[in-house]
Amino acid sequence: MTCQDHKDLMMAYLDEELNEEQRRALEEHLASCPECAKDLAEFQKLKEVTDSVAFVEPEDRMWDEYWSGVYNRIERGTGWILFSMAAIALLAYGGFELIEGIIEDRTVGVLAKVGLLALLGGLAILFVSVTRERVYFWSRDRYKDVRR
Ligand SMILES: [Zn+2]
Repeated sequence: MTCQDHKDLMMAYLDEELNEEQRRALEEHLASCPECAKDLAEFQKLKEVTDSVAFVEPEDRMWDEYWSGVYNRIERGTGWILFSMAAIALLAYGGFELIEGIIEDRTVGVLAKVGLLALLGGLAILFVSVTRERVYFWSRDRYKDVRR
């Protein structure tokens, strides 16, 4: 075997992919050939670098995905809460305007007024909830279409 033949086996040797016979032949040659021993040391260094890069890269990507996932969830959650609160407040305000006359009417009992307010509030919350659901499924369907 020539030196070049041994060099061809070095990467496999470092990856522990050589059989017993090949490994022994290479080790014997390395013991008697300083040039190949030096090359093996270079390969070893290269392998350590590429191994550490290969180890770090998926880890980083995993964390990036993790954080963007958390961020998206926080962003979406906050968005929905703000949207709900604003929508309920606006609807309730609009409703108050509409029923202000009834509320201020002294001939209408307190219980009826409270009932009316509860009814209005409930309707506002239901409306927002249903709208939110529609928007959510619509955006999800659209997202699926894009991915296809
Ligand atoms: Zn050699």
